[in-house]
Amino acid sequence: MAYNFDTLKIRAGYNPLEHNNAVSVPIYQTAAYELGSTQRADALFAFESEDPLYTRISNPTVQVLENRVAALHGVDYAVAVASGMAAISYTLLSIATGEGRILTSPRLYGGAADGFPSILEELGVKYDMIDDPDDPKEFERNIQADTKAIYIETISNPLATIPDFEAIAAIAHRHGIPLIVDNTAATPYLFNPFEHGADIVIYSATKALSGHGNVIAGLVLEKGGFPFDAHKFPSLDKKLWFLRDKDDNSRSILDVFPEAPITGKIRAVHLNYLGAALSPFDAYLILLGVETLSERVAKQVSSAQRIVQYLDNNEHVARVHYPHAKDSRYKALAERYLPKGAGGILSFEFIGTEKEKRKFIESVKIFGYQANIGDARSLIVNPAQTTHIELTPEQREAIGLTLNTIRLSIGLEDPGDLIEDLEQAFQNVFG
Ligand code: PLP
Repeated sequence: MAYNFDTLKIRAGYNPLEHNNAVSVPIYQTAAYELGSTQRADALFAFESEDPLYTRISNPTVQVLENRVAALHGVDYAVAVASGMAAISYTLLSIATGEGRILTSPRLYGGAADGFPSILEELGVKYDMIDDPDDPKEFERNIQADTKAIYIETISNPLATIPDFEAIAAIAHRHGIPLIVDNTAATPYLFNPFEHGADIVIYSATKALSGHGNVIAGLVLEKGGFPFDAHKFPSLDKKLWFLRDKDDNSRSILDVFPEAPITGKIRAVHLNYLGAALSPFDAYLILLGVETLSERVAKQVSSAQRIVQYLDNNEHVARVHYPHAKDSRYKALAERYLPKGAGGILSFEFIGTEKEKRKFIESVKIFGYQANIGDARSLIVNPAQTTHIELTPEQREAIGLTLNTIRLSIGLEDPGDLIEDLEQAFQNVFG
């Protein structure tokens, strides 16, 4: 029987009978594992068994997390890593390192956008950012012979825009390249990118997936079965001695992981040699968070809607950035792709001087002033000067981010109290 999302988020990937009947997923706090026999060691070192061998590559607690989050998406392949940034950089490196370019949108988390010029280019991953991600044809016009993937975010941070996934996926697939979606802001509760054309999905599990602001983590999921062409993706086809078979023949990533070479490569190569492994304790914290994912996100969405309404009618606010805000151009895309709601992150354009904006941020009493999203606590931030500080004034202008943009991440407090908190802060500034 195929279980529904809310059953899977509590149960998938774990059988207490296989873990000393422990009801709560045990934290396997161990670096290595007994190899047992030399024959078993041969199989483990040849990636022929999923049993753990060394926690940098896999761990039973981390495996439950990987299998559970994969089940929430209806796919079989996932790999957890130590941060959302590790998930992004390992994914892009696995596809394009030394040989290609990534086509992306300027509406990316600041760290991801700046990762290209600051480090990925030096590692041979070139990139192109299209000007207008609202026009899917822009992606088509900018695909080059060495473009290896399209990479976008579901609900962009901080301006809560939504791309036309199916149109963009169709373009990627026409050109034989995968679509990578960072689904951090939506979470699998609001959106399953695999059902709309994505081939690879990335999370910063630091955010709403874990949901309590107490962990740094990332995940990469793969649909499986993407027709990676060996000529177009030569690094996946390169023979590697450490992947050799029993007869000492070197094998490639595509030989060893033919169904899911990206998650396979991240585990066998990136975790193995670059090493940003997730700790079992952090995996345990994320598993606890996932148990209440639907309940938390549903409340955040409903509170966000109320706060959007309040801000939409506020004389000190020029504009609210949220798909269901007044005058939003993303309403139709939100209704099509996000029928359960457009998430708990919204931004607004504050009307006032720099001094007044700073006073407003310092006047809120419930909202925390923090560079994070998706927490159980509500958060406020001025992105241009904090989370998105990497963006140049030109890049900011290109995506519509201003010095007066204020971002809110709505938590689980009483929404009436949150509105009153914003109201008293406006009054403190403007009287
Ligand atoms: N992706 C998105 C959409 C983010 O907002 C962030 C961080 O804010 C990241 C990735 C990076 O995740 P982490 O902070 O876990 O490295």
